[in-house]
Amino acid sequence: MAVQNVKEIIRKLVAMQKIDEELFAFRREIREKPEELAGLKARVDTKKAYFHKLELAARDVELARKAKELDLKAKEQDILKFEGSLMSLKSNKEYQTRLFEIENMKADKSIIEDDVIKLMDEFEKSVKLVEAEKVIVAVEEAKYLAEKEKVDAAIRKLTEESGGLEARRREVMVAVEKTSLELYERIVENRDGVAIVPIVNHTCGGCFMHLPDQVINKIKMYDSLVRCEVCARFQYLEEDL
Ligand SMILES: [Zn+2]
Repeated sequence: MAVQNVKEIIRKLVAMQKIDEELFAFRREIREKPEELAGLKARVDTKKAYFHKLELAARDVELARKAKELDLKAKEQDILKFEGSLMSLKSNKEYQTRLFEIENMKADKSIIEDDVIKLMDEFEKSVKLVEAEKVIVAVEEAKYLAEKEKVDAAIRKLTEESGGLEARRREVMVAVEKTSLELYERIVENRDGVAIVPIVNHTCGGCFMHLPDQVINKIKMYDSLVRCEVCARFQYLEEDL
């Protein structure tokens, strides 16, 4: 390869590298952006779980109240039945015993009525808790959705800009010699988006390995592309371009 050729290839690879630097940064951002939402999403999920727990608790109270009301009805029917039977009793003793039983049942009934009232109060409180939590869940969810919209918009913008960069990349790419390009593509994918680096103060710009004079001299000959023995990236001297 002629001197001009090697330098020309380096210039083009450096131009590609500049685009790829941005492109890889965009891709990283596109990949990492959704993670910003994870905290908010977890918060919404926690609030929702608590809301469902409250809902279930309220439902349990409601079921308990309904069961108590059935008990109450059964007790009332028993009382009516016993009261209806009073007239048919033969002896005064039986009559007194039945009256005593009815009094006991009425006392039971009064306890059940108290329980029903307690459960109604409890249900009312549970419903208030559920309603309050519902508002909290809605607020948290709205916050999350607003944030998600921002993140989605940012990702759309980044994707769009990446598209523009990829188009520019293709324009530069077609002008690069094929073997060097293929190598470049492999390195850029395997070395976190950096395939060609400048040498600064005898140090590789990719892995910061100190380089002996002979490497610098080899580069300065410009008869072939030189790659770092440690990080495998192409190397160049900025001042020579
Ligand atoms: Zn290196």
